[in-house]
Amino acid sequence: MSQALIDAIPRPALLVDPAGRLAMANAAARRMFGDAIAGRHDITALRQPILLDAIEKALRENVSTEARYLTTEAQKDVTMLAHCSPVDRREGVLVLFEDRTDVEEAEQIRRDFVANVSHELKTPLTALMGFVETLQGAAKDDPASRNRFLSIMQKEAGRMNRLVGDLLSLSRVEANARVRPTTVVDLASIAKGVVGSLAPLAAEGQVEVATEGLEDEFPLPGDGDQLAQVITNLMENAIKYSGAGKSVTISLTKDADNPMMLGEAAILTVADTGEGIDPIHIPRLTERFYRIDSHRSRELGGTGLGLAIVKHIISRHRGRLRVESEPGQGSKFSVILPTSL
Ligand code: ADP
Repeated sequence: MSQALIDAIPRPALLVDPAGRLAMANAAARRMFGDAIAGRHDITALRQPILLDAIEKALRENVSTEARYLTTEAQKDVTMLAHCSPVDRREGVLVLFEDRTDVEEAEQIRRDFVANVSHELKTPLTALMGFVETLQGAAKDDPASRNRFLSIMQKEAGRMNRLVGDLLSLSRVEANARVRPTTVVDLASIAKGVVGSLAPLAAEGQVEVATEGLEDEFPLPGDGDQLAQVITNLMENAIKYSGAGKSVTISLTKDADNPMMLGEAAILTVADTGEGIDPIHIPRLTERFYRIDSHRSRELGGTGLGLAIVKHIISRHRGRLRVESEPGQGSKFSVILPTSL
């Protein structure tokens, strides 16, 4: 095998000779294991027992082998997969390295997501099944209990319905995540519409809602339904987590030269005077199913997906979400959107 051939391989690659010495390495492999590896014995140069066993087996038995191992590169944990293929008895074994970190992380996220969804659906479903059984048996002829159980069942079914609705929204947003909206919509009237439709919720929660800067038209490229959903989710959270006697302000301003948007931007802010959020939670709020207090979120009818949907919609619009909070004083969620394509 020639050095030119091994250099042409677009991944870290090594040739281990039958005596177990590193006969050749391409530049990517030298970056991984250090410049001085050529000519050294694989045991001292590679130092990964699982990898060494795989190379040894490939050399001895003339079969292809694989080794998966964890290592650190630039202070980050990395999952590597090494493919060891015998070239011939004289040349030895070609070892190709593949960084599997991203793939394995994505698989882990998918597994966690499925486990979370199943758990979230199972809880109300178990309650529903329990009440159906009670209604068929013990509570059959007791109208008072029947009414009470039916109203709990309605609440649990509503929870499942909201969860399925949020899951569908999330998958719809993800499906067109790369397609940037080009139609021009009026953000001020969208915001006014949401404020109007949430008036009953605010009244029920005894939360005062104030608006600023929604009087004039505010045109920008966007998907109207999705922007309405962003505002709805932020306003609902502000109302829900603030509690009675508090106030929520939604404001819309223009920033002529926003450094994040590299130009003119719309800044839509939903600020509340509620309990606030401890800074340690802020970076994780937009993760699916991340809640500061799961019990409280469920009690208030939350699915844990609201801010994940918000984040996806904003990123489809090439915008940013900024969260600021002072525990005990309130929280401020700002959506920064470019006003032109
Ligand atoms: P949920 O359905 O639980 O409300 P979200 O994704 O909308 O899910 O929000 C995630 C978590 O962020 C909530 O469970 C809550 O703990 C926290 N949170 C969101 N908005 C606020 C707010 N305005 N004030 C305090 N906490 C908030």
